Amino acid sequence: MRTHNLGYPRIGNHRELKKACESYWANKITQSELLATAKQIRLNNWQLQNEEGIELIPVNDFTFYDHVLDTSLMVGAIPPRYAPLLQKTSLNEIDWMFAMARGYQKDGLDLTAMEMTKWFDTNYHYIVPEFTAGQTFSLFSEKIIRHFEESKEAGINGKPVIVGPFSFLYLGKEKDKGFNRLSLIDQLLPVYVQVLEKLRTAGAEFIQFDEPCLTLDLTHEELQLFKKVYHTLKIATPQLHFILAAYFDGYGKNLSTVLELPVDTLHLDLVKCPEQLDHLIENRLNDSPLRFSLGIVDGRNIWKNDFEQSLQLIKKAQKAFGNDRLWIAPSCSLLHVPCDLSLETNEEALPATIKNWMSFAKQKLQELSLLADLAGDRPKQATLSAYGNNKAAIYSKQHSDLIHQTHVKARVQALQASDATRNQSFEYRKQQQQLVLQLPDFPTTTIGSFPQTKEIRAWRAQHKKGVLSDTTYDTLIKEEITKAIRWQEETGIDVLVHGEFERNDMVEYFGEQLNGFVFTANGWVQSYGSRCVKPPVIFGDVQRVAPMTVAYTSYAQSLTQQPVKGMLTGPVTILNWSFVRNDQPRAVTCLQIALAIRDEVKDLENAGINIIQIDEPALREGLPLKQSERESYLNWSVNAFKVASSGVKDATQIHTHMCYCEFNDIMPAIAALDADVITIETSRSQMELLDAFVEFKYPNDIGPGVYDIHSPRVPAKEEMIQLIEKTLAFLPADRVWINPDCGLKTRGWEETKPALTSMVDAARELRIKHPATVNQ
Ligand code: GLN
Ligand code: ZN
Repeated sequence: MRTHNLGYPRIGNHRELKKACESYWANKITQSELLATAKQIRLNNWQLQNEEGIELIPVNDFTFYDHVLDTSLMVGAIPPRYAPLLQKTSLNEIDWMFAMARGYQKDGLDLTAMEMTKWFDTNYHYIVPEFTAGQTFSLFSEKIIRHFEESKEAGINGKPVIVGPFSFLYLGKEKDKGFNRLSLIDQLLPVYVQVLEKLRTAGAEFIQFDEPCLTLDLTHEELQLFKKVYHTLKIATPQLHFILAAYFDGYGKNLSTVLELPVDTLHLDLVKCPEQLDHLIENRLNDSPLRFSLGIVDGRNIWKNDFEQSLQLIKKAQKAFGNDRLWIAPSCSLLHVPCDLSLETNEEALPATIKNWMSFAKQKLQELSLLADLAGDRPKQATLSAYGNNKAAIYSKQHSDLIHQTHVKARVQALQASDATRNQSFEYRKQQQQLVLQLPDFPTTTIGSFPQTKEIRAWRAQHKKGVLSDTTYDTLIKEEITKAIRWQEETGIDVLVHGEFERNDMVEYFGEQLNGFVFTANGWVQSYGSRCVKPPVIFGDVQRVAPMTVAYTSYAQSLTQQPVKGMLTGPVTILNWSFVRNDQPRAVTCLQIALAIRDEVKDLENAGINIIQIDEPALREGLPLKQSERESYLNWSVNAFKVASSGVKDATQIHTHMCYCEFNDIMPAIAALDADVITIETSRSQMELLDAFVEFKYPNDIGPGVYDIHSPRVPAKEEMIQLIEKTLAFLPADRVWINPDCGLKTRGWEETKPALTSMVDAARELRIKHPATVNQ
């Protein structure tokens, strides 16, 4: 059985790529220094994969920014607005690529960046290709060929990886109205053919086409297009061994078409969809020469592979297809997991027992080699002993009392429908809340965080290291809270926040205080470009040990007569932004988190906090790729939010916040959350996103963000009034809140103060121009 890998993390063990790119952007290093760092990462990765016994090693999985953007450059799909840059002899391919990814504001040019969006249901973001009617393509960047040559020089059996032509078009966006981007396929294919021919000439024997769109619901026409694409490519380069890879789910209804494609090896994600193997066996492909790549090691999560389970699958496949037709691989590119577990050396943060359950990219490759050996006739002695260790680790994970807390499981079991519903209707609650809160029309508020200054970050870091004592740190944070409260009062904001100065990250802050979470020191994963995230690891039953936010929130409330809003991160967002357990359904883990948040909500309420916001910016992210699974996800995720939020009195006002997503297709779910107020991002799209709420007749109060906090630009009062007036055509004035469109932690006070001051002025003017009815 051959082992191969679909892609390796390109950020480097210590985020060398991030650091090099950012230094290059800041003109601190030259382009040749940047190139040298990149080359070293590639060589290290190839060498490492080689040493771990991987037979076919991916090439062209490396990118400075994003592999989809690289594909746009490969085929010359460069939006016309960048044309002036292509004239500049002082720039080259790398600079153009960065300009497309990040925009270009220099030498009198102001070119906006290309759009970025989420890569399927992962937290990786790709740069969306832009297409226009009648667009032509031509081979522009030969990076794939250069990298293949480089791998040959390094003595590597390289397998170039390329985004398949269908997925490339499908994942893009039409910039002109009235045409379908898929109709560009005839223009596009000759460029792919040219690339394949060049690779072939350079000595490539294999090529991996990534067509993850094959796990989506596709139409008949779209599937027909696949046939055309792969017939064309295969006829052009019959000598190349085609590997077709889709991942993140099974092929589902697309399988029969996929099996007709002229490819040599078909990759299957058997982690997300182990049933696929049975579907293949049912298809009786006995006489077909097609090979299968069994994606058996989880490329999306950080748990050790269960060898016994994997071997059962492998043996089933061996029996059906014979050993020679089988390869094994990770389920998808290892891009989505951190590099190397052995870099985690802080036993206090990551105890040895838990670490022994885990596996990062490098370890996953070791697992592949061991599995290949174990599936053969005569496994090595060392492999057998590794198998013994694996069994012991899996057994320990199944039974450890670090993981399993009977009372947590019992509490989830005992949940009733009534735990997930407020006692009274929204209308009734709104009256009760108004009696307590006495808010004006168009109440003003913010989303929670205030600027995280350099000083605040430094205090947190020093506190973590033990340089700042608990008391000193606490005093410093309280001083910041006091300043923030005073400033909000002076500015005339109606619902105040404490500012979230004590929080590093909206998930990590809670995870660190909950049982069942651990944090790695170096478990970085690329999110987009040079941005990496370090997701928490949920390893066990989640339990709150003590109140997490009550102290600072009530401190803030003690300083003012105005209502202070308690700020919490919702269960679905905590779940979706973490590495999760693979030994129980996500829905169950989510309910455990929901109960912890519910307890926090109760404690805040008991401490006299009358407004509590539960943020769920990641609700939409968890949406399954296949339509058929969406309803179930939305049901359990909404239910978890409601478990977290429904334990309060009628007079306690629950807010939620969501940003950066299309709301249209999940409107019923958003309404079902039954939050008293939702604040949403809308300003970048000039309130277009609000249409979904209007069309759906969203029943509760709504705060459409009136200005974009992602830019340092200070908006004028009139702009904000105009945006709100646009919405007043559709929403009754007494249901509208006035707020920015997200938290302000990435902004400075210099721009935050004038922006919020204008926002308050805007609300004051609106109250005069559009008197509502609440207080009459
Ligand atoms: N309350 C959070 C903040 O203001 C919300 C962040 C978010 O929406 N991502 O920072
Ligand atoms: Zn937000």
